[in-house]
Amino acid sequence: ARQATIFAARGPGRTADGRPIPLLANIGNPGELDDAVRAGAEGVGLYRTEFLFLGRAEPPSAEEQRRAYRAALDAFPGGRVIVRTLDSGADKPLEFLPGPAAEPNPALGERGLRRARRFPAVMEAQLGALAAMESERLAVMAPMVATPEEAGWFAEECRSRGLRDVGVMIEIPSAALRAADLISQVDFVSVGTNDLAQYAFAADRQLASMSALNDPWQPALLDLVAMTAAAASEAGRPCGICGEAAADPALACVLVGLGASTLSMGAAALPAVRAALAAHTTEQCDEAAEAARAQVTAAEAQAAARARLPGLA
Ligand code: PEP
Ligand code: MG
Repeated sequence: ARQATIFAARGPGRTADGRPIPLLANIGNPGELDDAVRAGAEGVGLYRTEFLFLGRAEPPSAEEQRRAYRAALDAFPGGRVIVRTLDSGADKPLEFLPGPAAEPNPALGERGLRRARRFPAVMEAQLGALAAMESERLAVMAPMVATPEEAGWFAEECRSRGLRDVGVMIEIPSAALRAADLISQVDFVSVGTNDLAQYAFAADRQLASMSALNDPWQPALLDLVAMTAAAASEAGRPCGICGEAAADPALACVLVGLGASTLSMGAAALPAVRAALAAHTTEQCDEAAEAARAQVTAAEAQAAARARLPGLA
């Protein structure tokens, strides 16, 4: 029993019946890698690379970028590292790029992949530095993808440079609605629940006054995740979750029930999520997910799920 406890505290993520659910870390700067290793993360599910680019008069050199990506790969020997290409937006201007004209709604403007398409040099340099890693453990994914055409464009940019594990984030409702068409262009998808909620509910994620709408237990958000996971499963491709929703132990079980194959979160959340999965079977996760989706409000969804997850601390 002691060994089981230790396993649950440190080992790889898995449900009580032994289904592996790799638990990965969200990393926002290289300083967070150590915390993630200490928390027992199995790799990096979301490497936010904005820290390399923001607030600088010059773009980072290829050498500086390679060092940052190498550090992440070295921190997790044998683990997968998913690097997200630059997610800059009109609210996070890049000093070294001419910005678009002021946008009245920056969250709906030229952000993420949209910006990369208009200024391809930055993304091309980043993909070049990533390809130079020559690592099979390295995966690359794009933020803010709205259409299958965008996913296909990004995949082609990556593959033409020799990158072999290419994904897109699902964080815009149109992408979830047509997940099958996006997934057919790439190797995996990862759901960003923070933006997916913001865009599904038309509720700015930065406004505390909108937090009830951005509650990740909202049944409409669960539906979008379920839709995405089902399309991924149908295509035989992995569907990760890398938004904040994965950091809530009860919701993590629900996400597994909805079909998530990996969960990525801030290091601090890893132990509790690992314990929650270890305490519940796949069947319990499935039932909790089904019960949550059958509700009308976020509070009801949470209560219904928790009632079916008796092993929560
Ligand atoms: C998300 O939108 O859920 C996400 C993981 O990306 P970010 O929070 O960096 O926008
Ligand atoms: Mg996002």
